[in-house]
Amino acid sequence: MKPTPAQKTTPLVSPASAAVVRDAATQLFIGGQWVSAKEDRTFAVVDPSTGNVIAGVSDGDIADGISAVDAAEMAATAWKATSPRRRSDVLMKCFHLVLEQAEWLAQLITVENGKALADARSEVSYAAEFFRWYAEEAVRAPGEYGPAPSGANQIIVNHEPIGIAVLVTPWNFPAAMATRKMAPALAAGCTCILKPAAETPLTALAIGEIMRQAGVPAGVVNIVTTRKAGPVVSAMLHDKRVRKLSFTGSTGVGRTLLREAADQVVSCSMELGGNAPFVVFDDADLETAVAGAMVAKMRNGGEACTAANRFYVQKGVVGEFTRRFAEEMAALKVGPGLAADTQLGPLITEAAVAKVERLVDDAVAKGARLVTGGSRSNGDGFYYQPTVLADVSPDAEILREEIFGPVAPVIAFETEDEVVRMANDTEYGLVSYVFSGDLKRALAVAGRLESGMVGINRGVVSDAAAPFGGMKQSGLGREGSHHGMLEYLETKYIAASW
Ligand code: NAD
Repeated sequence: MKPTPAQKTTPLVSPASAAVVRDAATQLFIGGQWVSAKEDRTFAVVDPSTGNVIAGVSDGDIADGISAVDAAEMAATAWKATSPRRRSDVLMKCFHLVLEQAEWLAQLITVENGKALADARSEVSYAAEFFRWYAEEAVRAPGEYGPAPSGANQIIVNHEPIGIAVLVTPWNFPAAMATRKMAPALAAGCTCILKPAAETPLTALAIGEIMRQAGVPAGVVNIVTTRKAGPVVSAMLHDKRVRKLSFTGSTGVGRTLLREAADQVVSCSMELGGNAPFVVFDDADLETAVAGAMVAKMRNGGEACTAANRFYVQKGVVGEFTRRFAEEMAALKVGPGLAADTQLGPLITEAAVAKVERLVDDAVAKGARLVTGGSRSNGDGFYYQPTVLADVSPDAEILREEIFGPVAPVIAFETEDEVVRMANDTEYGLVSYVFSGDLKRALAVAGRLESGMVGINRGVVSDAAAPFGGMKQSGLGREGSHHGMLEYLETKYIAASW
């Protein structure tokens, strides 16, 4: 069962991609209908493995954004009054339909994002889990009740849906970042407008169609694709009916949106950039550490906010770790994401390749040694070789900026205090990784690291059941777990006497 709306796409140039996008929705989803943008403009979606255009998608304007707010408002009262059990059932149906269409969704992610199909399949499973988790959470909204200390009255605390939510998502996890926001919003009883990244709109629209098929009522979810994110999102945030912004993306855009949201005092949840340290102590099991490094660095081709950005390895094992890590990186099969044996696909755009190239060149100019890789791949598409840099100088830009590509800088350290100081020397604080055979030491270091999440002896932390989010300039609020639903609930206190 694939999405069926009558849609138009532009002529297709790559046969493999063409087959995948043939049935994909390409219009705006507003009030339960597939509609063209009011100005009837479209923008091109590009396959990063070839640079070819694979679809034309409706390019929404401010008026389309406001239409979506109108639709979300029309649906709000009924959805808020819908029983938690019914909301739960609809979300569980979304979970099952995503699984039924999992392979097609994974291929769709690959053709517009570039990531290897294995990564896309993992993303679809992860995305589906948010529907299942929040189907289960929808019926567990918390409340409190108890006597006031004076004995004069009772204190009752309820949680209500916060109101219409604007959800803005990035291109690196086009399915999971959308479901991580839409599922808790709907579970809490909010209606919403999703604004996906212009690089990867097809996956978000496909999920919208699945939600329609699952019985999500018209207007509860609206999706506005646009190349004019700034003005469209700003207009929605200045509409008094909107009460929530949940944003995932870069710290720079996050700062801009916090300022925009301040004008109407809109509640904000922000999942921003990262600069994850990956710390390996002498007493770590090296096989586990190298396997963890491969996942922490290369899941999603390095294009993850959780990607290990700086590898701090203790003096006694830095040589052996670097050699084994570089061997595994060099052995990765690079190619188009849809090819069965591909382990690393292209980056998202030519600009992303140029950024990685700039960071590597700067590190090498400042004395880093290339252990493997170090340049873009020849031919079509936006490819960069898996790369390991050793002896990276503390003033290299690669240690300050999010790399967002398949490059691993390795830095040696001697003492625990030294590595904690280096790891925390960043404005980011999303996730850290610690590898040690001594759990007491690993937990102590985890406690000293300034990040919202820590992986101990493992290279992946993401889980729908756990609170995902950052400290410092990596964000505000949490997604996933019961914490994620609280972001869409307003607290109401009633003082009652009788
Ligand atoms: P981005 O900030 O450029 O864009 C994110 C979204 O914001 C897109 O939908 C984009 O169209 C929109 N946008 C851009 N400018 C805007 C503006 N002025 N007003 C309103 N919306 C605007 O980020 P990206 O390049 O798409 O994604 C990569 C970034 O996302 C990285 O920094 C990465 O770390 C971060 N990220 C964070 C998490 C997390 O959970 N912390 C998860 C995934 C990605």
